[in-house]
Amino acid sequence: ASHLGADPSIVRRLSQVRNIILVLSGKGGVGKSSVSAQLALSLSSTPITDDDGPTTGPSSSSSPSSSSPTPSSTPRTPRVGILDIDLTGPSIPRMLGLDGQTVKQSSDGWVPVYTDASQSLAVMSVGFLLRSKNDSVVWRGPKKNAMIKQFLGDVRWGPLDYLVIDTPPGTSDEHISILEYLRTFQPSAVMVTTPQAVSLADNLRSLDFTRKTNLPLLGLIENMSGYVCPHCEECTNVWGKGGGEALAQRERIHFLGRIPIDPGLVRVLDDAKEEAQAKVQTQNGSDASAAAEII
Ligand code: ADP
Repeated sequence: ASHLGADPSIVRRLSQVRNIILVLSGKGGVGKSSVSAQLALSLSSTPITDDDGPTTGPSSSSSPSSSSPTPSSTPRTPRVGILDIDLTGPSIPRMLGLDGQTVKQSSDGWVPVYTDASQSLAVMSVGFLLRSKNDSVVWRGPKKNAMIKQFLGDVRWGPLDYLVIDTPPGTSDEHISILEYLRTFQPSAVMVTTPQAVSLADNLRSLDFTRKTNLPLLGLIENMSGYVCPHCEECTNVWGKGGGEALAQRERIHFLGRIPIDPGLVRVLDDAKEEAQAKVQTQNGSDASAAAEII
């Protein structure tokens, strides 16, 4: 694929990324970050073969690099990256048990934090650059734009099968920047909603955004869709049911499925924390001062 007009630093970093998936939501709090984290985890734990079909990214037609995944029909673990540019509340580090980690600055750019020794899931988040997890990001437009460009152009991902990008809620200037930077990389999107009507109205705006920007939508996920009682396993539809599916039908988009409210989900992520942190410490030799200098 031609990257004519694209930023050279971004081309250098992302030309070995086969699929870029943006996770969108009409509004905050619907579980966009949880879905992004689970999507990245499940992609990284689902073996693929290299003839699993066409890829949407550019590397399938670009010249093979010595470090690109070698074509083979033997199943292998995919290499997945997750980039958290939800500047309003970067929660991916917490959800992957990586709170308090920092990125390391190398001579060849920022080294992402890996969730385990196999390095199959690489993580980069604006949260790693904040001095305290309670700091908020109150940057103005140009600084946000520069940060997004830096995230896309400076992270040393290496070859990736999937890059999942957790974007801010709604449709903002950040989305427009991301899409401009990624235009030649043919990204696609997944949208997350809850069954509440207010969320669905916001989703119409997000849908409209994907259409106006020609961003292919892989489908819609309905999160917090009913509550399954841990005692009797009966599902209570706290906020109604089927709103996401009806929206998908009406708007002729794929309905990818529904995820129930699961109190265990939050617990699982918390339990994963200590184990993940121990692993990361041996992997990353994190360097807080380098990250502090970057901002
Ligand atoms: P967003 O990124 O849309 O702002 P988050 O992913 O941060 O939303 O989720 C908001 C809160 O809801 C978090 O505390 C998260 O753990 C919780 N949450 C998300 N999805 C579920 C679910 N299916 N079951 C239970 N809690 C959930």
